[in-house]
Amino acid sequence: MKDYFFTDARLLGLIGHPIKHTFSPFIHNKTSELLGDNTLYLPFDVAPSNLKDALAGFVALGVRGVNVTTPHKEAIIPLLHYVSEEAGAIGSVNTVVNEVGKLSGHNTDSAGIIESLEPYRSEIVGNGAVVVGAGGAARAAVYTLIRRFNPSRIFIVNRTKQRAEYLKDHFAASSDFDRIEARELTPPDLLDVFAESKLIVNATTVGMWPHADDAVMFREEAFDEDQIVFDMVYNPLNTKLTQLAERSGARAINGLPMLLAQAAKSYELWTGAKMPVAEVETALKERLASGA
Ligand code: NAD
Repeated sequence: MKDYFFTDARLLGLIGHPIKHTFSPFIHNKTSELLGDNTLYLPFDVAPSNLKDALAGFVALGVRGVNVTTPHKEAIIPLLHYVSEEAGAIGSVNTVVNEVGKLSGHNTDSAGIIESLEPYRSEIVGNGAVVVGAGGAARAAVYTLIRRFNPSRIFIVNRTKQRAEYLKDHFAASSDFDRIEARELTPPDLLDVFAESKLIVNATTVGMWPHADDAVMFREEAFDEDQIVFDMVYNPLNTKLTQLAERSGARAINGLPMLLAQAAKSYELWTGAKMPVAEVETALKERLASGA
């Protein structure tokens, strides 16, 4: 146990509502332990009506930074002093840094997506991609695909088509990429767009603990061996969707590389230190295997 009584202790955290089961405290506190720096990362359940006060409290208490999750990723933007170009273009903030009372917003999900998809770059470039979902993670996925992977076409598929249209319009206005189509999340539509896509990204909460038996798709014939299926869900690591993809011969990517890479970038923004990612990954896997 570290001694947090020293005045140089740095407080970090996560704000969301509700704060569900999250691996972030483990990842950041393990990093601090491995690096031997004096930081402590805590989860804070902050209701939307308390968001502004919570930020003022962080400034008053000198909290160095926080991660931001649902439902605050978009709502927090007008409450910050500065928003990075990337977070502004994505329209979503997942990391806040307190620079002596001035709060800056960043988005490190894109770095996590690049880490996950880079090994498949040559296959993604020039081919169709589908992003299922229209929340913060989906925004980061569409942004990253446009900026880094130049697919031939991006389908945004969401439960409510209006949200998918909204994302499409956002990126049509903020980039010169005009090959986005918005679709409603219905099984026949999904089969069509999956068939036309090399890359399938699940950026919804479907399949996440405690609803691990759910998936956006259950049909075996939805995938084939030429496809890459990236499920951002990291709890459980092996989701129904990645299991189905693997059974169909497709390459499956789980949410862990993204989780670690986005956390590493956040940690660096707060402390300037590099996360020992491989060691943190080993520790996290051991912890998960132990069922603790
Ligand atoms: P969000 O709340 O902003 O968006 C959730 C999306 O899921 C919305 O588009 C919503 O329409 C959709 N959705 C929810 N329930 C649904 C259902 N029953 N059927 C169809 N669609 C449904 O959340 P987010 O921040 O965008 O996160 C989305 C997912 O991505 C989560 O599972 C989250 O854990 C994961 N994520 C992973 C990482 C990582 O590092 N691996 C990072 C960010 C997000």
